[in-house]
Amino acid sequence: MKEILYLVIPCYNEQEVLLETARRLLKKITIMIENEAISQESRILFVNDGSKDKTWSIIEELYFQNKIFSGINLSRNRGHQNALLAGLMTAKEYADIVISLDADLQDDINVIDEFVDQYYKGSDVVYGVRSSRKTDTFFKRTTALAFYKLMSGLGVDSVYNHADYRLMSKRALQGLSQFKEVNLFLRGMVPLVGYKYSIVEYERHERFAGESKYPLKKMIAFALDGITSLSIKPIRIITGLGFTIFFLSIVALIYSLVVNFIGNTITGWTSLTISIWMLGGIQLLSLGIIGEYIGKIYNETKQRPRFIISDKLISNDVNNE
Ligand code: UDP
Ligand code: MG
Repeated sequence: MKEILYLVIPCYNEQEVLLETARRLLKKITIMIENEAISQESRILFVNDGSKDKTWSIIEELYFQNKIFSGINLSRNRGHQNALLAGLMTAKEYADIVISLDADLQDDINVIDEFVDQYYKGSDVVYGVRSSRKTDTFFKRTTALAFYKLMSGLGVDSVYNHADYRLMSKRALQGLSQFKEVNLFLRGMVPLVGYKYSIVEYERHERFAGESKYPLKKMIAFALDGITSLSIKPIRIITGLGFTIFFLSIVALIYSLVVNFIGNTITGWTSLTISIWMLGGIQLLSLGIIGEYIGKIYNETKQRPRFIISDKLISNDVNNE
């Protein structure tokens, strides 16, 4: 039996790209259905993440034109990760395999066939990995590299150069649904689900229209979230720092006592100022990091819903086509 594939695409203010994206994906999916690679119950599922533009009405329009298109509408903007999770959790009810991708099609859709092949060969998760980052700015490239290095240094298991372009099987998604955290960093959570995985490389293109919904500020927030949701090493580092400084202060104490007894005391302005600034800085930084974690705990204990779906346009009636 052929498997049902759902493509999940989070969309936030994507009216410039949506029609073209829909056209390209429809072509892709239709060919795959004709080649009998996937079931004709496969769907293209758009998730409208509280867009302020015409995104949702375009999705409705698409759905009325062709039932292969489907959509869910979130009650408000919840951010990329939450929107993606909403789509994945909805799709897992209908699909055997789900592939997530961005609305701007920066990720090459021609590797979808390979994703599905890998699934048929027994992988529950297939990660799309960018073979190069030529189209990214120098800044984005270097900061991304530094971030991946930092993450793995902190013990977070994530796939290098993989964003959220991936295939997941139904049972991998069921595994993911058991992770109840509200601080989402999907690319770090999926490896925790386990199962056999494989990697498919592709070239990342430039956005063909519209502009990035990930300005620097959001990127930094996302990186910080990723680290603090998946690693407690920063707190350990602080503890280590505390021990080191404590040890150094004992050495300094002995030193100053000795100097005092020898009678060689000079007005220690320099050392005093330096230590005040250093200690003050380290303490503030440490408080900040600990505060980040307490903030996370605060958010997790509230157990607020990660998304609320207000409308759902999915037709899983085959005769409807
Ligand atoms: N996105 C979303 N909610 C948001 C921000 C972004 O659903 O609050 C979607 C967006 O529509 C796109 C994907 O997340 O499909 C990735 O965004 P974008 O392409 O702007 O990011 P970049 O590729 O520049 O990192
Ligand atoms: Mg993009």
